[in-house]
Amino acid sequence: MIWLAALIVAMGCALVLPVNGYLMNLLMQASTYAIAVLGMTVVLGYAGQINIAQAAFFGIGAYGLALGTTALGLPFFVALVFGAVIALLFGIVLGGSTLKLGGHYLAMVTISFQEILTLVLTNWISVSRGPDGISNIPRPHLGFLALDLAPHYLALCVFVLFLAAGLVIWLKSSRLGLSMQAVRDNELAAGVVGIDTYRVKIIAFAASAALAGLGGGLFAGAFRYISPDQFSFDDSVVLLTMALLGGVDVAIGAVIGTALLILLPEWLRFLKQFYLAVYGLAVILIMVFMPQGISGYFVRFFRRVPPMQEGAITPLVFGAAGSTGGMLLEVSGLAKHFGGLRAVDDIDLAVERGSVHALIGPNGSGKTTTLNLLSGIYRPTSGSIRLGGRDVAGFAPHLLAAAGIGRTFQNIRLFHSLTAFENVLIGSFRDAGSRDAESRRARAAAALDFVGMAERAHVTVASLPYGHQRLIEIARALAANPTLLLLDEPAAGLNLTEKQNLVALLRRLRGHGLTILLIEHDMDLVEQVSDRIAVLNFGRRIADGTPGEVLRHPDVVAAYLGEVAENAPA
Ligand code: ADP
Ligand code: MG
Repeated sequence: MIWLAALIVAMGCALVLPVNGYLMNLLMQASTYAIAVLGMTVVLGYAGQINIAQAAFFGIGAYGLALGTTALGLPFFVALVFGAVIALLFGIVLGGSTLKLGGHYLAMVTISFQEILTLVLTNWISVSRGPDGISNIPRPHLGFLALDLAPHYLALCVFVLFLAAGLVIWLKSSRLGLSMQAVRDNELAAGVVGIDTYRVKIIAFAASAALAGLGGGLFAGAFRYISPDQFSFDDSVVLLTMALLGGVDVAIGAVIGTALLILLPEWLRFLKQFYLAVYGLAVILIMVFMPQGISGYFVRFFRRVPPMQEGAITPLVFGAAGSTGGMLLEVSGLAKHFGGLRAVDDIDLAVERGSVHALIGPNGSGKTTTLNLLSGIYRPTSGSIRLGGRDVAGFAPHLLAAAGIGRTFQNIRLFHSLTAFENVLIGSFRDAGSRDAESRRARAAAALDFVGMAERAHVTVASLPYGHQRLIEIARALAANPTLLLLDEPAAGLNLTEKQNLVALLRRLRGHGLTILLIEHDMDLVEQVSDRIAVLNFGRRIADGTPGEVLRHPDVVAAYLGEVAENAPA
């Protein structure tokens, strides 16, 4: 409602306020740029991927519209979509070919793409008309409504800006948007909870390119003349600065940053020759004192906390309930070599349905590596992994998550800037039984409640104490309704009470028929909850059996005594 009112007011202002031609141009520039900066909110803010080619995508949209209307004779809106779609396709190709690399590579590739585009626009004269640019770009007619007067056209730009902003705001709390933020916060964990991280990154990149293309198309119509120098590397940096200045976390930041960087020079004009220095200083000061951008600085005062769950929280349902007997996981000859180091060396392991199987061993014996193989973070050097009879060795993490594997990490890996509830909600995306948004929210609430963290639902996980973070991580795994839960040292760093709670939690999980592979150093805890224990030493399995058998096994005693001796102070 407020949204609609703001839209009507903004469009009304554009239509009736007596604005001179110069200011009109600034407003048209600001509104079309802001659409491209909203793209940066998606790719950089939500998905955490750097893009220093936003002006190139903006230019592709602008040329798409200019050439579409003038050379191809397309109607304005068809040409506008045409430009945005071409930008989108370039986004998919560029993202698809480089997002696997990430980080610095992505920055370098986007810069190169930016430079290449400038060269092509300048030199491919038969198509782009070269440095002279394209003039006489038409403005649209919408039925009987001619939008070619500047105020009308500005109203159109404002309308599209509102649409784009609405979309970007909606995206943030959608399944796709949360997946993007999960990738940004912890890509490894995102894969393990079932997100196809590569695909999500490409979508973010392509959406960002499409928004830039849309803004660029409107920009071309606004100025009716474009040339290659308007879409250079410098302009990409300007768009990036606008995004960072306004704040990339929320959509409104894009609008604030754009408006400020376009209007600030005007306000500072009275400073005459000092204006550039003051302008630069102002930008630096904002960046230094508001590292989250202007919107990030203010948003924290306005954060609304929505209720997690209306009505009672339902008990958590376990898909695997009652399925005991038979082997759920069968590992044979599994090996992982890092160069000459045999971190995991030819191990066999069979985990019975409904049991808790512990995996113990001295530090560096290959326990975490085994879990990384089982959850797809590493590809095995050799060996087979069968889950419920199906060979899953070498699957990507998100496919193993879909196959029913859930896990936690030795060094907790949560999506640190999201709330406890959002973390667990992202886990629930993988649950085949929760198909609609409502049931996913209910499942996330149930999982949080199961580990006793329902009251902390809306706390950002980074500010939770360590023990709580461990529980949130378990809840996130449970929300996906795994058939096999892998826990990597869940008791590490917990105090005595927390350890006792963990034992109770593990027993409840076992009571629900969940199969658990538990890595743990605390032997007391292992003895209390395990049905079987496997022991690793130097990457090899040296024992496997009931706790009584294993803990008396001479090799095990020797391995542990060895560790004690090594760790003993000299
Ligand atoms: P644990 O969890 O039993 O303490 P790990 O599985 O983490 O042991 O490590 C087993 C061995 O493999 C260690 O010697 C470790 O240094 C090595 N290792 C683990 N991951 C890697 C890697 N990515 N690259 C090289 N060596 C690794
Ligand atoms: Mg480990």
